[in-house]
Amino acid sequence: VIEIGTPDRSIITTCAYCGVGCSFEAQMRGDELVRMVPWKHGKANRGHSCVKGRFAYGYAAHSDRILKPMIRDSINDPWQEVSWDEALGFAARRFRDIQAKHGRDSIGGITSSRCTNEETYLVQKLIRSVFGTNNVDTCARVCHSPTGYGLGQAFGTSAGTQDFDSVEHTDVVILIGANPTDGHPVFASRLKKRLRQGARLIVIDPRRIDLVKSPHVRAAHHLPLKPGTNVAVVSALAHVIVTEGLFDEAFIRRRCDWDEFQDYAAFISEPRHAPEATAMLTGVPAAELRAAARLFATGGNGAIYYGLGVTEHSQGSTTVMAIANLAMLTGNIGRPGVGVNPLRGQNNVQGACDMGSFPHELPGYRHVAGAEVREVFEQLWGTPISPEPGLRIPNMLDAAVDGSFRGIYIQGEDILQSDPDTHHVSAGLAAMDCVVVHDLFLNETANYAHVFLPGSTFLEKDGTFTNAERRINRVRKVMAPRNGLADWEVTMALANAMGAGWTYTHPAQIMDEVAMTTPSFAGVSYERLEELGSVQWPCNAAHPEGTPVMHVDGFVRGKGRFIVTEYVATDERTGPRFPLLLTTGRILSQYNVGAQTRRTSNVVWHDQDVLEIHPHDAESRGVKEGDWVRLASRAGETTLRAHLTDRVSPGVVYTTFHHPGTQANVITTDHSDWATNCPEYKVTAVQVAPSNGP
Ligand code: SF4
Repeated sequence: VIEIGTPDRSIITTCAYCGVGCSFEAQMRGDELVRMVPWKHGKANRGHSCVKGRFAYGYAAHSDRILKPMIRDSINDPWQEVSWDEALGFAARRFRDIQAKHGRDSIGGITSSRCTNEETYLVQKLIRSVFGTNNVDTCARVCHSPTGYGLGQAFGTSAGTQDFDSVEHTDVVILIGANPTDGHPVFASRLKKRLRQGARLIVIDPRRIDLVKSPHVRAAHHLPLKPGTNVAVVSALAHVIVTEGLFDEAFIRRRCDWDEFQDYAAFISEPRHAPEATAMLTGVPAAELRAAARLFATGGNGAIYYGLGVTEHSQGSTTVMAIANLAMLTGNIGRPGVGVNPLRGQNNVQGACDMGSFPHELPGYRHVAGAEVREVFEQLWGTPISPEPGLRIPNMLDAAVDGSFRGIYIQGEDILQSDPDTHHVSAGLAAMDCVVVHDLFLNETANYAHVFLPGSTFLEKDGTFTNAERRINRVRKVMAPRNGLADWEVTMALANAMGAGWTYTHPAQIMDEVAMTTPSFAGVSYERLEELGSVQWPCNAAHPEGTPVMHVDGFVRGKGRFIVTEYVATDERTGPRFPLLLTTGRILSQYNVGAQTRRTSNVVWHDQDVLEIHPHDAESRGVKEGDWVRLASRAGETTLRAHLTDRVSPGVVYTTFHHPGTQANVITTDHSDWATNCPEYKVTAVQVAPSNGP
């Protein structure tokens, strides 16, 4: 889609890229989308946007889109276009046949953080109530599942504590493992504005991101830690705050479990956590660590923002809990300007988690073992729900290779590109009898599919997305689905082909069901969203206007919980064969594996991924600017062009992963977070050598 002519109407909807959740006016002329204009009344963006939401919507009209359902008996057969009824009947029969032979738990499904809340709710309902299993997981497994676990343990719920407006009241920001100028640009603009007004910034990142030093903004401290040492760095900050008596005792006595705090204080005061003891390990000078800790503890309202540089580690959940400790230590919870704020990657990763996408949790983060919670859904759905958690994505693939898991419904997720250990993913998919891929494009995972169900874009459906500040924004249909059915209709049709008898006629009815079953959404309805524009959950009788700041008078779990966070080094070690550490990130114009942005004009701003390497490391390998290099790890290898820069320290290399040719997941290992299996994408031991090209 290119800008054409004068619009005759506009419809307010929500960007489908990052977790900022910007509101846009989709300006239409007839059935054509003329342009996307950032909406000045959007509460998350206030008229601002970035180049993705503003320009990168052309994929909706791209010729690569598959618009007709397709089936095939075996993955070696050619695809055959069929009617919706035939495709859904084919999938339903295969799923039922598998279950007849191998039991209910032999199939499952994956929800998408790109789809709406209503679509996600329906997929988990399909799996729990029609498949009859808790084998449901989500693409959040590979990004923010440690946020879910860590914040749930510390505070009692798995969500950022603040709204974006909160940044206007902050005095000191710790930014750890996030690069918002590229990943969350509209939030980055608000942060920069606050920094220009005098707020201080502490950046904890192996790479010198733009916010460390740009024309108008300079961080007070940049702690360029060695990848994989987040816990040691955050513990060193906490050590200084505790041993120098800079903690907020009144807050801790009032709001937290004092006995647990004392255990934690004894642990963190041990000399092994001192900056001087950890400087060699982390690569961060002790004086910088001490100065940063003192600034955060004494500088006024302190807020912590973080991204995948925290979660995608073998200690991702531990780091999230260490961050929560730091916020509670300094009394920085429960008012504007403070808090713990995960910068969620995908447009609806918060919502996908809220809607019960994890195998152990029903909507609203309630464990399936809870009989009272199960009963709510069992009564409404008229079917029993297992009290046993189902399989996570990596366990589904393991079970597939073993032969006990044989069918999967994957909505809006290309696990072959996005999940770790590509060889294992393909082996798992190849071993299944029924792989149903529901997507816009014939993605890599579809190479192993027996049924392809065409997906619809955000422009073609009604629903809601929930952004990183828990804000539920309306997504409005601006054009008819080019494939004939919106994604929620496809899921309902599959459920009905398996005998469900669902009768939803509009996503508003699905949200009504969410409100009926999920206390934190009890006050949410499309009428309420029309009235308020958007609303932040919890929204219920106690908070009819929603909740911008959480944990104001008490934590969701009651008392805040200090958790001992022991640093454990990753098993991914450098050595003579693989002496460098690779870490990864994003660039402004592109999005994740690029399935959408590469099919738009944004591709002109970034047509290939490159490897950032420090000039010293490049020189010692005979590598010059622009040379092809071979990047090899214990898992695999790929080829990229080199870019020499001192943004990375000696010993560290960095790349983006927006182009399939980069094959970053061929390089990354199968190490994962101990609590959630989130892959350790941010630390891979590699070697770099000159190459003649791919
Ligand atoms: Fe806003 Fe994120 Fe979309 Fe950019 S990608 S317009 S920051 S929601």
